[in-house]
Amino acid sequence: MKRKPIVVKFGGSNMKTSRDIRLIVDVIKRYETPLIVVVSALYGLTDRLAGTVRSVKDDAGLIVRLRQFLLEAKRDIVEQFISDPAKIKAVMDKLSVRAGELERYLKAIHLLGQTPEFAEDLILSYGERLSSSLLESLLKAEGLDCEEVLPEDMGLVTDGEFKNASIDCAASRAAVRRRLGRNTIHVVPGFYGISPDGKVNLLGRGGSDYSAAAIARCVEAKSLDVWKDVDGFMSADPGSVPDARPVRRMSYREASELAYFGAKILHPRTMEPLAGTGIPIRVHNINDAGAGAVSLIEEAVPAGKGGVKSVASTDRIGVLHLDGPGLGTKPGVLAKAASALDAAGINIKSVITAQTAITILLSDTDLAPALKTLERLELATVASVKGGRDAALVAAVGEGMRRRHGILARITGVLADEGINIKIMASGPSEVAAYLVVRRSERRRAENAIHRALFRRRAKTAD
Ligand code: ASP
Ligand code: MG
Repeated sequence: MKRKPIVVKFGGSNMKTSRDIRLIVDVIKRYETPLIVVVSALYGLTDRLAGTVRSVKDDAGLIVRLRQFLLEAKRDIVEQFISDPAKIKAVMDKLSVRAGELERYLKAIHLLGQTPEFAEDLILSYGERLSSSLLESLLKAEGLDCEEVLPEDMGLVTDGEFKNASIDCAASRAAVRRRLGRNTIHVVPGFYGISPDGKVNLLGRGGSDYSAAAIARCVEAKSLDVWKDVDGFMSADPGSVPDARPVRRMSYREASELAYFGAKILHPRTMEPLAGTGIPIRVHNINDAGAGAVSLIEEAVPAGKGGVKSVASTDRIGVLHLDGPGLGTKPGVLAKAASALDAAGINIKSVITAQTAITILLSDTDLAPALKTLERLELATVASVKGGRDAALVAAVGEGMRRRHGILARITGVLADEGINIKIMASGPSEVAAYLVVRRSERRRAENAIHRALFRRRAKTAD
């Protein structure tokens, strides 16, 4: 029987320096084929491309500077691997062709003086395209058999939305399987797919994890191996909770909730295409490559010892308050508000309602446009719409929350002891998560207190 492929993904934080690229190549060598390697852009490059698209209308000089930056960065990396000047030149020439395409699109925007919607997605995909081309050349220079395959060449089809598309796995499956069916190393740029009418669609910022998961589903991969430069999922962010410890096993649901609540290990959508496949996600730390997976994420895993596996937090939220004594008597207010926000492209993270108030949580960057949208609506029975940014969301996540009682009591109890006021609290919509909103300045203290209350002092792992 043919071996199932493994899909391996390397992110931008694993691509900062030429030493990082050496580590990636060494990791790839440890695997057997068939292997599908999904890569992100070099660290910071997508932001730089986005900045260039914004400003290139007025400043054509940006194009030359970007080209110089790109080719110098790549040359540095290439020279680590190849010493023969003729071979270096061949690799750089190949990269120049791709950089040249990017340059032409940017020039077109400069000449047009405007950016057509499709052009931004196309241009931002070049960060990943440059990585895949580079990696293919380096692997070949190391004597490995490999082939770069672009999403347009394998028919990785999206729903057609720009900037934040979804992959249509059912429509992509047959062609992707065929194109990635050889027993070799395929190198694929992440972060984008192709609309049914052939346009590049980005999959949302940080979306290479999601690309890799969609491809893993299409090819029925043995596993999805995500390589990071940190130690996988932890019971809290070790930067703010010194007592945090690793979480070795997690369910898809736990991992998605944690990702949505701010854990930066996986993109929140990574688990979406994997639902029902049972494909395990193995998170590795590249600085300890021999150690095996640091976190293993499976479709379903038993609840951990303490019920909760991790505490996550974010202050990238804004809170909208809709107040009105008659809210509870009038149907449709929430529907109208939600539709208007949707039409404005604003994503709602959570809604908590009472009879006289509706609270909507959203991303901090959406707060100002959301306020404007709702004010314009002039909703009957809504006396006032207010926005607040002095808020941080702290969440506790674990399969054990379904059945255990007393977890919420411990959380609220410890916050009361600390004198931290809970502004909003919700548990229930997700069976595996409870979250609360506190003042921004109290985020760290709340996180530490909750972690202390929920985890046994000396346990080595959190599950
Ligand atoms: N390079 C893209 C970004 O920065 C996608 C990714 O890194 O996953 O958003
Ligand atoms: Mg990422």
